[in-house]
Amino acid sequence: MAKRIAILGSTGSIGTQTLDIVAHEPDRFQVEALAGGTNLELLIKQVQQFQPKVVSMATKELAEQLSQYVPAGTKVYYGNEGLLETAAGTEAEYVVTAIVGSQGLQSTLAAIEAGKHIGLANKETLVSAGQLVTDAVRRKGVSLLPIDSEHSAIFQCLNGERKQDVSSITITASGGSFRDRTRQELEGVTVEQALSHPNWSMGAKITIDSATMVNKGLEVIEAHWLFGLSYDQIEVMIHPESIIHSYVEFTDNSIIAQLGNPDMRVPIQYALTYPERYPTPTKRLRLTEIGKLHFREMDFERFPCLRMAYEVGRAGGTAPTVFNAANEAAVARFLRGDLTFLQIEDVIERTVLQHTVIPNPTLDAIHEVDQWARQYAAGMKFTSF
Ligand code: NAD
Ligand code: MG
Repeated sequence: MAKRIAILGSTGSIGTQTLDIVAHEPDRFQVEALAGGTNLELLIKQVQQFQPKVVSMATKELAEQLSQYVPAGTKVYYGNEGLLETAAGTEAEYVVTAIVGSQGLQSTLAAIEAGKHIGLANKETLVSAGQLVTDAVRRKGVSLLPIDSEHSAIFQCLNGERKQDVSSITITASGGSFRDRTRQELEGVTVEQALSHPNWSMGAKITIDSATMVNKGLEVIEAHWLFGLSYDQIEVMIHPESIIHSYVEFTDNSIIAQLGNPDMRVPIQYALTYPERYPTPTKRLRLTEIGKLHFREMDFERFPCLRMAYEVGRAGGTAPTVFNAANEAAVARFLRGDLTFLQIEDVIERTVLQHTVIPNPTLDAIHEVDQWARQYAAGMKFTSF
């Protein structure tokens, strides 16, 4: 029987690649619901191709326009209610969370509460509220399957292994668009330069996060929650080619790694079909064509955001919530030309330092702290720009 899925953020980078997988295996999947933001034209195409029962857009105006193009019987929603309907209001057994940022938290929790399995792309939700999300997953007995390539790699390497046999995991980082620049050379870099990633084509926010290394920091915290490992067991290394997606080291000094060409459709499909595997419409990896792979120690002074991520991760409670929300606000400012690239890390650090951590926060506390950090970071003034 076809697996019934819903996609939050269907018009984005992960959303469209998920639908690419569905289109490639139409008998294996049935799309129950799609939620997009503001790209009306693309959502119309997706609705006509995949015929979901529920569809949602960011605003009422867009939803009204979309209504003219959907087949009879398709329910059209908008805004937050629409996201929640897409996440929890259908017969889907599986929800792909592919919107950006901690705004995805409520819909992710709603999907879990409704007993849906989660294909997690939206790492910010797990960073912002890791304890609440993983508690809900355990309580409801659903699975939380990683779509992030590094976490998919680790998940695959851990298949059939005992947790006590794992000594550490190593998350690989391409280094992002500014990998080979010194800190001095980061002064005056433009948004366009920051947006050109050497290996992966992704949404704007995560591409900036890759350049600041915040993305790797979010991934360290994501790994802590997904695999129940301590921060001492999670390492990060630069690997410019992005061929080894991450690896696990065991107590006997054996290392198991997962390799592939950098193409998100492989981890997306694995999350959808786990524990089974099927062909994907991707290119085979030929190691002999690549010849050499390179590895470098991570430099925490060059990439202070990664150091901060370990610090907030270890501090726990609402510390990662603040780190994540401040970063979201700072990246939005950078993208609209309101901050320099290096000011992103300043904004994050000053916001984190301003916060008194709340241990074991409730959902309300997380929401409040997230809003506070966002506003604080958005309003932070600089004497020079
Ligand atoms: P993107 O910007 O390309 O897409 C985001 C999608 O969410 C769009 O469809 C947008 O319209 C939609 N959206 C935004 N706000 C919405 C709202 N309020 N309601 C409904 N829809 C809304 O982003 P992306 O690169 O696909 O990233 C999505 C998530 O996946 C992020 O959390 C990112 O960190 C993670 N991720 C992405 C990649 C990648 O290769 N792109 C890899 C690993 C993890
Ligand atoms: Mg990743």
